[in-house]
Amino acid sequence: MAEILVLGGGMVGVSTALACQARGHAVTLIERGVPGRETSYGNAGLIQTEAVEPYAMPLSPGALFQIALGRGFDVKWTPSGLLPQFGAILSYARHSLPAAHRRASEVWGRLIRQSTDRHAPLVEAAGAGNIIRKNGYIEIHRTPARMDKARATAERVLSEFGVEARLMTGAELRALEPAIKVTVEGATHWSDSWNCADPGGLVASYAALFERRGGRIVNGDAGDLHRKGAGWAADEAEGEHAVIALGPWSPMLTGRYGLRVPMVFKRGYHRHYHVEQAPNHPIADFGNSVVLSPMRRGLRIATAAELSPHPRLSPPQLKHGEKAARELFDIGAPVEAEPWTGRRPCIPDMLPVVGRVPDQPNLWAHFGHGHQGFTLGPVTAEILAEELDGGEGWAQLSPARFRRG
Ligand SMILES: Cc1cc2nc3c(=O)[nH]c(=O)nc-3n(C[C@H](O)[C@H](O)[C@H](O)COP(=O)(O)OP(=O)(O)OC[C@H]3O[C@@H](n4cnc5c(N)ncnc54)[C@H](O)[C@@H]3O)c2cc1C
Repeated sequence: MAEILVLGGGMVGVSTALACQARGHAVTLIERGVPGRETSYGNAGLIQTEAVEPYAMPLSPGALFQIALGRGFDVKWTPSGLLPQFGAILSYARHSLPAAHRRASEVWGRLIRQSTDRHAPLVEAAGAGNIIRKNGYIEIHRTPARMDKARATAERVLSEFGVEARLMTGAELRALEPAIKVTVEGATHWSDSWNCADPGGLVASYAALFERRGGRIVNGDAGDLHRKGAGWAADEAEGEHAVIALGPWSPMLTGRYGLRVPMVFKRGYHRHYHVEQAPNHPIADFGNSVVLSPMRRGLRIATAAELSPHPRLSPPQLKHGEKAARELFDIGAPVEAEPWTGRRPCIPDMLPVVGRVPDQPNLWAHFGHGHQGFTLGPVTAEILAEELDGGEGWAQLSPARFRRG
C-alpha cells in the first residue's frame, strides 16, 4: 500500500482517487474549491461511447476562411487568445491531418468504448442513478446535405468501431421528442451513450463515495507541491506519490518539473433556461454549434470553442445558440444572471496525458482529456492506477512523448 496525493478534484482527479483507493492505497485528494465545480461542472453532461474519434481541427480552406473572418459559431477567437497558444494550435492542425487523426482515433476509440462500463459501478456505488439517463442523445440535422453526411458517418462508425446509431426522419424525431416545435430534415440517435442531469453533482457523489470508503479530501492549494524526502507534500498533505490532475491548470505545474505540455484551451460557455416541456434526450444541434441538455436546473445550452484568455460577458456563440434553441423549443428566461464559462484542456495530438512524469520519481500526470474528460475520467484513471501499481501503462498516452518533440 502506498500513500498517494491526487491534485485536483474534477472528474479526472476524483476518478483517479477512487481507482487508486480500490487498489488498496491510502489516498488524499487536494482541491482548492469543491470537487466538481470547474470544467467537470460546466459540460454538456454526455458520457459518450459514440465519440470514437477525437475532435479534429477543421482544415478545409472554406472552414479556415470562415474561422479567420470570425464567421460561423464552431470556433471564435481573439488575437490575445490565439497568439500565446499559436504553436500548440499549429501542432493540433498537423495532428488533424487524416493519417495522424486515424492513428489518434485508434487509441481514443479503445478508451471511449469502455466509458459506460467504467462509470457503471461508480454510479451504482455512489447512489447516483437518479441523475444518469441511459437513453443516449440525439443529433439533429437541419438540411438534406447534413442528413446525407450523417448517414455516411453512421455507416462508417458502425463498420470501423461497432457503434450503433438509429437514423430518423424529422417526423420520427417529433414522435420521440414532442417538445420539438418544428420538423427538421432528420436526426441521429446515438443510443448507446449516457447523459447526466447534473455533471457537477455526479463528481460530488463520486467524491462522497471516495470519502465513505476512507479517502481524505483536503481543501487546499496544490500549487504548493514540493518534494519532501523521497515523496511529495502539498498544502497540509504528504504522500509517497503525487498525481497531477488539475485539468486546464496542469501544464503550469508540470512545467515546474521539466514536463512542458502544449495545450490548446478551448473555452466553452453554458447557461440554463427555464423550460416547460424539456426534451427527453440531450439535443445536439451541431449546425448551430450547440448542445441542449435537459438538466436539473433547466435546459442547458452549451457552446463550442472560443480561443480567448478572458470570458466575454455576452458570448456571441451563446446568443446564437439561444436563438437556435428557441426555434426548437418553448424556452423561457435564463436561470442565472451570467453564463458559466470554462476551458477544455486539449492536447494537440488529441490524446490525454496519462502516466509517469519523466525524470521525476513518483510524480504522475493525468490530464488533457479535451472534449471528453467527463466521459473518460474513470477509464484513464484505471490505466494510471494500474501503471502506478507496476503495470506498463499505455505508451501512446505517456508524458514521455513530450520529451521527444
Ligand atoms: C462547454 C463544455 C462542454 C463539454 N461537454 C462535455 C461532454 O458532454 N462530455 C464530456 O465527456 N466532456 C465534456 N466536456 C469536457 C470536460 O468537461 C472536461 O474534459 C473535463 O471536465 C476535464 O476534467 P478535469 O478533471 O481534467 O478538469 P476540471 O474539472 O477542471 O478539474 C480540475 C480541478 O483542479 C482544481 N484545481 C486547479 N488548480 C488547483 C490548485 N492550485 N489547487 C487545488 N486544486 C486546483 C480545480 O478547482 C478543478 O476542480 C465539455 C467541456 C466544456 C467546456
